Amino acid sequence: YTESKIMLERASKVLAGGVSSEFRKYNHPHALFYKGGVGTKIIDVDGNEYLDFTLSQGPLILGHSHPEVLAAVNSYSDSGQLYAGQHIQEIELAEKICELIPSAELIRFCLDGSEAVQTAFRVARAKTGKNKFLRFEGHYHGWLDNVAWGISTPGVEQLGEESNPNVYPWSKGISAGSRDEFLILPWNNLGLLEAALSRHHQDIAAIITEPVMCNNGCIPPEEGFLEGVRSLCDKYGICMIMDEVITGFRLGLGGAQSFFGITPDLSIFAKAMGSGYPISAIVGKSEWMDCIASGEVIHAGTMNSSNPTIAAALATIRVLEKEKPYERMFYLGKKLMNGLRAVGEETKQNLMVSGMGPMFNTFFAVDGLPKDYRGTLYADKGKLSRFVIGLQEEGIRIIGRGLWYISTAHTEAEIEYTLEKARKVLEKL
Ligand code: PMP
Repeated sequence: YTESKIMLERASKVLAGGVSSEFRKYNHPHALFYKGGVGTKIIDVDGNEYLDFTLSQGPLILGHSHPEVLAAVNSYSDSGQLYAGQHIQEIELAEKICELIPSAELIRFCLDGSEAVQTAFRVARAKTGKNKFLRFEGHYHGWLDNVAWGISTPGVEQLGEESNPNVYPWSKGISAGSRDEFLILPWNNLGLLEAALSRHHQDIAAIITEPVMCNNGCIPPEEGFLEGVRSLCDKYGICMIMDEVITGFRLGLGGAQSFFGITPDLSIFAKAMGSGYPISAIVGKSEWMDCIASGEVIHAGTMNSSNPTIAAALATIRVLEKEKPYERMFYLGKKLMNGLRAVGEETKQNLMVSGMGPMFNTFFAVDGLPKDYRGTLYADKGKLSRFVIGLQEEGIRIIGRGLWYISTAHTEAEIEYTLEKARKVLEKL
């Protein structure tokens, strides 16, 4: 890692923190700097090659440097058509998304997931005339003020209480006023949700949920939970926002909403839709989105819908439509998940594997902790860190918090190779 170390020193002088939060937060001893990547492989500045399951935190669903995406982006750069909005490709992309996503009737494009989430809250407030929103413990919806609060977790026994007083901002500098804008409830617990709404529904403009709790353990929704959220939103005139930043275009062309058969009022797409180019979308039924159309709710941004980002998204979606990769991605992902479970058992490492296939999480359970998603909140982070570093030393990269993403480029041979390497790492842990 000699060159990476030199780069880290250089970076630390000019880039605050020097390196992405993933390496800092998870005490990763070898921050990597990359030269580039093709397909499933990335190469660091020292020339080490890795089989990549991070996909740049998710977006590279087609793998690195996909030729059709690059060609689409380059055709705009080469022609000098580098303007934002008001071009035919923007219309074509919106038409395509309306065709594929069940709840999409009107769309606005933004640059990232956080910004689209913020826009969804505004729409929900404008439409319902209410001010607060409800979100779930362990979910992530970006880093802007009103969602960047968590629940401090002093003891497992305190989890699961309906209103947890120990809400804290993740960062200094977060507006204290945003504390009063939300309620945080446990995930997958319809009883607590019903009870909370019976008391607070007159204040709640929106319920926001990840359809799969991807950011903590990759926990699927329990049977009936999303349906329950949908019907409570209908009952109380609350906007249901589905945050599909991770699940969108990853569980299928229609996103998680199609996969689970639930129609949200608003939903957010980002990551995989743009193959790494900065594009996200807020989509929804006309009856919600018309307040943006009429200008009552402002949605702006100089760089939104810039030609290369739209081109990247159109090319990505067209490749996904053409290749129909989902059955294969589920197959490969589940094969890897099951294989890891088996290797975890054989090596007696308490390795837990949870998720859907195209994305999943690995963590190390601690005896006596809850078996539901809360077990992941309290999992053994030190051991996970050693696992992630061990894999990196064997030439395999996964995300620091144990998340794995499958791309359309991964092969069965690579899954088998990964299982061999994982066994080696687990044996040494
Ligand atoms: N929602 C979810 C579910 C996410 O996973 C993320 C990012 N990891 C966001 C929102 C925020 O998106 P962005 O990082 O593009 O702002």
